[in-house]
Amino acid sequence: MSLQNEMRVIPPVAKALAVLAYLGVAISLIAILIPQSHNTSMMPKGGQIALGIFAAAVPAIYVLLVGYIYGDARRRRMRYIVWTLLAIFVPQAIGIILYFILRDSLPVFCPHCGASVKAAFTFCPQCAAALRPTCLQCKRPVEHTWSHCPNCGAVTSAATQATASAAAPDPRALEGNKPSFSG
Ligand SMILES: [Zn+2]
Ligand SMILES: [Zn+2]
Repeated sequence: MSLQNEMRVIPPVAKALAVLAYLGVAISLIAILIPQSHNTSMMPKGGQIALGIFAAAVPAIYVLLVGYIYGDARRRRMRYIVWTLLAIFVPQAIGIILYFILRDSLPVFCPHCGASVKAAFTFCPQCAAALRPTCLQCKRPVEHTWSHCPNCGAVTSAATQATASAAAPDPRALEGNKPSFSG
């Protein structure tokens, strides 16, 4: 996941707004606010300009982060409007920090039908292919390294259904392993 790819997530409107915010804040800082402030008016002119150039980056980065959260939450199929509003309105950038802590994993593609599905899903909602190894007895996800299912205790080495990376799960194989109640 390169920085270039991540930058593509930011909507062009947010990038344009960030440039405008940067120029607007830099010009007003250097032309008006810094020369008039008691704390900074005694600084040499070069120092005032450098301060304005650095300080103006803060609101521009904030706009870029909000744009990133909008695009990123959208591609992760999260509630992107809510997260964008939280990023804008929760003070001290807490909405932004919370987003990066709580965001969902990126969606994955079903190896059988190609649908984009949530990474947390065990089966594809479009074609029912297993997206990860599952216990044949209780259908809960299991890991390759586990010898028993943590949910029902079945031996997983014999009972797991391979990830549908190459082929769709064979329904006959499923039938064959189902416990029989007919006696
Ligand atoms: Zn599928
Ligand atoms: Zn199980």
